[in-house]
Amino acid sequence: MLKNQNLFLFDMDGTLYLGSQLYEFTKELLTTIKAKGKRYLFMTNNSSKSVADYVKKLEKLGIEATEDDFITSSQATAYYLKLHHANDRLYVCGTNSLKEELRKHGFVITEELDEVDCIVMGFDTELTFKKLEDVSKLLLTREKIPYIATNPDYVCPTEFGSVPDCGSVCDMIYNATKKRPIVIGKPEALMPELAMQQHGYTKEETTVIGDRIYTDIKSGLKAGINTILVLSGETTQEILDASEDKPHMVLQDAGEMISML
Ligand SMILES: [Mg+2]
Repeated sequence: MLKNQNLFLFDMDGTLYLGSQLYEFTKELLTTIKAKGKRYLFMTNNSSKSVADYVKKLEKLGIEATEDDFITSSQATAYYLKLHHANDRLYVCGTNSLKEELRKHGFVITEELDEVDCIVMGFDTELTFKKLEDVSKLLLTREKIPYIATNPDYVCPTEFGSVPDCGSVCDMIYNATKKRPIVIGKPEALMPELAMQQHGYTKEETTVIGDRIYTDIKSGLKAGINTILVLSGETTQEILDASEDKPHMVLQDAGEMISML
């Protein structure tokens, strides 16, 4: 049933590798997809790194990739902003990499609060209290200011466990302002939709593969595409049984796809 699928959107951590350890099937899987004339993209919610950083990371793991092989929540955010806030000047609570990505798409970024038209929250590994204060001030003094977050994740996995991600910082802001952002990344449908649109594939021939139901699988279900949950990462059978959202297919790991292509 994967034979008629032509675009594969892969979550990365927990699906193709764990931390800095590539799964043993990953190279063969990606090579097989290419050899069959199909396409894959790496789809990540992480807005702290640039696409160039990700190309380097995969290279280190032994996977050749180009910037065209990615769809990131930073790119999706830029796309969303172009559609809805084309000329807005942005206050970015995010890394320099995120700011760079947004500038590449023509946006002006400012720290002058009087000039700000729209707030963007990212996974900010360069977070300071000043930024939290600025965002709170903007939300509390500017009633209708647009407020957007690249991704809703509460934590990001590291070698030693988790660190707070964009969703956790947005909760801090909520405690101060009672305002919630519009979220762009998984579990929303925008990233899969953007991937299909940019690369010219239909819903019927597109599959998302990931290890989290509440982000990866949900984004696929919302986008109306095929979904595969892999049990090689965060989700256990118990979590799956308890979940209301059910993937179209469940595999122990993405290596099992190879014989189905
Ligand atoms: Mg994952």
